[in-house]
Amino acid sequence: MALVLDGKRVRDEILKELRPRVEELARTGRPPGLTVILAGCDPASEIYVRNKVKACEELGIRSEKLTPPETVSTGDLVDMVEALNSRQEIDGILVQMPLPPQVDSRKVLLAVSPEKDVDGFHPLNVGNLVTGRPGPRPCTPAGIMELLRRHEIGVAGKRAVVVGRSDIVGKPVALLLMHQHATVTICHSKTSNLAEECSRAEILVAAMGKPALITGEFIRPGATVIDVGINRVTSAEQAARIFAGDAARLEEFERKGSLLVGDVHPAHVAQKAGAYTPVPGGVGPLTIAMLMVNTVEAAERGAARRRSSGCSG
Ligand code: NAP
Repeated sequence: MALVLDGKRVRDEILKELRPRVEELARTGRPPGLTVILAGCDPASEIYVRNKVKACEELGIRSEKLTPPETVSTGDLVDMVEALNSRQEIDGILVQMPLPPQVDSRKVLLAVSPEKDVDGFHPLNVGNLVTGRPGPRPCTPAGIMELLRRHEIGVAGKRAVVVGRSDIVGKPVALLLMHQHATVTICHSKTSNLAEECSRAEILVAAMGKPALITGEFIRPGATVIDVGINRVTSAEQAARIFAGDAARLEEFERKGSLLVGDVHPAHVAQKAGAYTPVPGGVGPLTIAMLMVNTVEAAERGAARRRSSGCSG
């Protein structure tokens, strides 16, 4: 039987460990503060932001949500970020992606002070990641590493394959795996013989956004398979193909009209992998937990800076 890597349990552990650190910050100065900018009204982004704000509330982190309209300009967003950079009670600034199409996302992300960049997307923090210096790591890749570590899945010396080369998942997770001494291959949409590349992996990370593309022949027997993909399946035909033989999921599809599926075929991975993350309940819960970690760490660094410069607050 494959081991199911339980993202909810790891998330709860991480949040539990953060609680006394948040209390200590509140006791000795003020609680950590996070501002989320949600531009426009993308329904998925609204759900993500709601969950982030909720996690802050549960942990005692002060949060604030700014909601500029869909028509916001790059300049307005940059001004908004710069105003937040100079507010001392804010430790973290998160700009929810995607931004409306007229906005230059790179300019907005560049405007976030690297010290308040709790997503780890600022080029300076990307440089810190590449060179192995301390700094905030992108949340989903950092969550994957926690999931492996807390399930005692060794990385050093393993052959890892990452499918996807995005700045927020594929590239950073490949770097984190390499820093922990895995031998890493990065695949993408132009890779030839993807199944063959993947089938060599002792650790396979799928981050493409393609429902159930990774089927049995991509998976080396006994491999650890990390499924980052979150895809909503709305076609009955596709649901029947992916969830054939899983009466409970098919019944759920009938009831809701859609189902979440990862990039890995759920039945095939359960049969072939040694360990794997389910969707939902695997990688997803860790992204917000690591955002909380990055926010608390930014607050701790800020408090240390204020102490050394003799300021309070
Ligand atoms: P992205 O920016 O769209 O990048 C997708 C990557 O996959 C690209 O590098 C692309 O290659 C590659 N790709 C696409 N089709 C492929 C194929 N048929 N074969 C091989 N490679 C292929 O996506 P992302 O932001 O990294 O997100 C990936 C998935 O993770 C999405 O489902 C997203 O919803 C999910 N996600 C989940 C969480 C979470 O908290 N669980 C967080 C972030 C993202 P090219 O570079 O060649 O185009």
